[in-house]
Amino acid sequence: MPAGGEGALTVTVRMKVSPEPEQEEAILDLLRRYRDALNYSIRVIIANKAVSLGKAHKLLYKELRERYGLSSTIAVGCYRDAIAIAKSWLRKPKRGKVPMVKRLSMWLKQEQGYRVKDDHVELAGGYRLRVIGWDRRYDDFPNREARLVFRDGEFTLYITKQVPRPAKYAPKGVLAVDINEKQIVVGNSRVEIRVETPIERALYYRRLAERLQEKYSSSRYRAWLRRSGIRRRIRRFYRKARNIIEDWARRTAHIIVSLAKQSQLAVAREDLTGLVESLRKLPKDHRTALIALGYRRLAFWLDWQAEKNGVPLFVVEPAGTSSTCPRCGTKLVEVGYRRLRCPNCGLEADRDTIAILNIEGRALGKMGGTLTSPTAPQVTDVSPNRWGEPVNRPKGTLAL
Ligand SMILES: [Zn+2]
Repeated sequence: MPAGGEGALTVTVRMKVSPEPEQEEAILDLLRRYRDALNYSIRVIIANKAVSLGKAHKLLYKELRERYGLSSTIAVGCYRDAIAIAKSWLRKPKRGKVPMVKRLSMWLKQEQGYRVKDDHVELAGGYRLRVIGWDRRYDDFPNREARLVFRDGEFTLYITKQVPRPAKYAPKGVLAVDINEKQIVVGNSRVEIRVETPIERALYYRRLAERLQEKYSSSRYRAWLRRSGIRRRIRRFYRKARNIIEDWARRTAHIIVSLAKQSQLAVAREDLTGLVESLRKLPKDHRTALIALGYRRLAFWLDWQAEKNGVPLFVVEPAGTSSTCPRCGTKLVEVGYRRLRCPNCGLEADRDTIAILNIEGRALGKMGGTLTSPTAPQVTDVSPNRWGEPVNRPKGTLAL
């Protein structure tokens, strides 16, 4: 779901669709032919470095029409799809094998490729699918290109739309987000909320996957068993682990952005590029891989949802956020497990609380004169013990 151009955002609307029973096989057959044609096109485009539409058309159009039986619109969509995949592969510095598309997913141009009419969708070639349900928030905006996907027995049409970028309000303060391995802390000098990350839960599934993998890779098991069902189960566990992280990131970002919007605050997060990079350099380990994934996905959804909701967002420099005093800038000393104290001004707080205050302070600094409210929180006002909640709250206080 990439962000759009100047004044617009590109959103993707998910539409559940279902073919008329007598057409289901024909549509699946079309999707399979499209996939085969796509894989063929990717190989031809890469072999000939034919990444322009004109070159690809000359090399592929006739073949896609005759050998794969694609209609003219679908054939054009197919080599365009292939060009995009080939380009991103050619751009990679370390290339593996030529990419091979396995899933059933067909790119469709608006109007010629597909049309939504009341309660059904018409695809080029006269196929009809019933519309079961969709997100109606963007109904007023015209449909652009779409993708028909068949997965786990269901058909979904992903329709892209251009939506005007909402105007951002002038923030009355900052809601800072500090991301750790075990929890994320959201707050400012007045409130603080802690949310557990799902790393442990996701790891549980990865471990299950590994255990299965180990068990069945032994030669005691027959080759067919090692190949088929077990592989599928292992893949399912890996996917499950990734989905846990993704769902959590999306929901958590949604809650944070809603909270900020309610109180007309800006969201501030650290720049995680360096952190994710340094995790990548560690020995390949499932835990670090999942943590890096969680960081990236949360940052992605925060940025995206802030953009979509007109919530101002600041990305601040992360160096020293959990080791310098938010009040006077002095280097803090450790006085207990994750507890820090300022030798200069005496401020003492939890490591994460310190990070929140520093991130808030840095964002306020970036905002300069844009604060609109005289009651905006002052970093110098901090008294960590005044916050109603004990700093080490019981876990799971926010139902996620
Ligand atoms: Zn201090």
